[in-house]
Amino acid sequence: MFDNLSDKLDKALHILKGHGQITEINVAETLKEVRRALVDADVNYKIAKDFTARVKEKALGQDVLKSLKPGQLMVKLVKDELTELMGGDVAGVDLSGTPSVILMSGLQGSGKTTFSGKLANFLVTKKTKKPLLVACDVYRPAAIDQLHIVGEQINVEVFSDRGNNDPVAIAKAGVAHAKANGFNVVIIDTAGRLAVDEAMMTEIANIHKAVTPNETLFVVDSMTGQDAVNTAKAFNDVLNFDGVILTKLDGDTRGGAAISIKSVVNKPIKFIGTGEKMEAIDVFYPSRMADRILG
Ligand code: GDP
Repeated sequence: MFDNLSDKLDKALHILKGHGQITEINVAETLKEVRRALVDADVNYKIAKDFTARVKEKALGQDVLKSLKPGQLMVKLVKDELTELMGGDVAGVDLSGTPSVILMSGLQGSGKTTFSGKLANFLVTKKTKKPLLVACDVYRPAAIDQLHIVGEQINVEVFSDRGNNDPVAIAKAGVAHAKANGFNVVIIDTAGRLAVDEAMMTEIANIHKAVTPNETLFVVDSMTGQDAVNTAKAFNDVLNFDGVILTKLDGDTRGGAAISIKSVVNKPIKFIGTGEKMEAIDVFYPSRMADRILG
């Protein structure tokens, strides 16, 4: 995960570690390399520039050059800033509703159905919850089948209505079914499109209005780089979602999405997907991710 970025940041910070005498010039050089590493990892240029400007300010404020171990202090400053950029604290999901309704949004192929299953499985095993999965993708019969297969795998009931082509009605019926049958979490899987389009946005906005979810989660494929950030912005403008799910972090992603999403939409990344299996879900810990990136 993020091997390339890790390598580049490691090299950038080595400039500092390698010098006996640390001067303002090599601090500046290091930060330039850090910025380059971030941009190479698909972080938007402005975000990367602001990032290094903040680290520089802190370095000056803490008089890094006069400190005992300036190299280590710089690494710490970069790590702290990276943690902050990715969200600072861990963000939970609201499970206080009776039932709690969790609405999934995102483009087709982003990993919504897979993540819906993973989250249901996570809630059953870690939080002893009783979730219901609701299939609202009325356009692709295969999508409904896929959710049923996922439900069978993890032994979680799936609510669907194959004859019905109104996703709003299905979502409402799903919540009613959950209330009547003692489910305390409802996870609504919705249809995506290959790109942002108005019909999709209107549909998800209507479902959102009809079921007033406790949590609206935006699922995005981390491999899509800067596009992930643009898509997040488009969905957030319509849904004002509560959190981001970053999928496919097990792949060869450059990491830019993980680093920039929070600063663009100001919403936390809540979970990450790290594989196709139902167990491949992790709570997102910004500081652990920063540790991982900086090795
Ligand atoms: P949806 O169209 O948004 O519902 O997306 P799907 O859940 O069908 O996922 C699209 C593809 O991505 C499927 O082949 C999934 O197995 C795969 N996928 C989903 N999440 C992950 C992940 O975290 N890692 C990997 N490697 N593949 C994933």
